[in-house]
Amino acid sequence: MRMRRRHVFHFVVVVVGVLFAATAPARAAAAQSNAALVADLVTANHILFDQNVVDAFGHVSVRSATRPDHYLLSRNRAPGDVTAADILEFTLDSQPVTATNLPLYSERFIHGEIYRTRPDVMAIVHGHSYSVVALSAVQNARLRPLMHFAGFIGEAAPLFEIRNVAGDASDLMIRDGKLGAAVARSLGQSAMVVMRGHGSAITGTTLAQVVHRAVYAEVNARLQLDAMRAGPVTYLSPGEIRATASAPNYGRAWDFWKAQAEARRR
Ligand SMILES: [Zn+2]
Repeated sequence: MRMRRRHVFHFVVVVVGVLFAATAPARAAAAQSNAALVADLVTANHILFDQNVVDAFGHVSVRSATRPDHYLLSRNRAPGDVTAADILEFTLDSQPVTATNLPLYSERFIHGEIYRTRPDVMAIVHGHSYSVVALSAVQNARLRPLMHFAGFIGEAAPLFEIRNVAGDASDLMIRDGKLGAAVARSLGQSAMVVMRGHGSAITGTTLAQVVHRAVYAEVNARLQLDAMRAGPVTYLSPGEIRATASAPNYGRAWDFWKAQAEARRR
């Protein structure tokens, strides 16, 4: 009996040891990939500024590789100025995991509430790019894809009307979780939501993809405004939207835009 107990004890020790040995590299790999995510997040900030998707305002985040219920986002800085030291980790309530006195983006709740409701979303851009805002204010118009890089928009991007949630005297900003949840509800299962008089929230499965989408959401909006002035517009058909929903070349665009952005920062 004593022998058997000792054997059981040894067995447990071996199993725990094997499990620990198996998970230790996994934990190290995950931590390493979070470090890689931080570097890519800094690059995403610089590209979005260089490509005129964000200016002094707007932000980009990525879901943590180690904690799916956390996300990474810069402290309150202009995207063109963001460095790795500025990246903080947040809970889905958009509270910093480590207490800080640093100023934070007031609209970070957009990110937390979308990550909460959309487990498939790994990266988010919130910006105020000008053509998207212009189109958001045109009555009876919606952002619709007319070019082959914009199929991800779907038939028409959902439009978030803040007056339905906050009345007609708000500053249009998403300053708390309740408003962030309302934006996430408007987004639904779409890839992006347009926010009337404000901007957009764009989602993706990688930083390279969400940056590509953010650049071409603005390009498509600009082209759509031009085309609407010229005459009736032919938008992508449902079949064309399906066929172009996932643009294949965003890796090439990422490398090119990264080189351009970093060269111009020197
Ligand atoms: Zn905003």
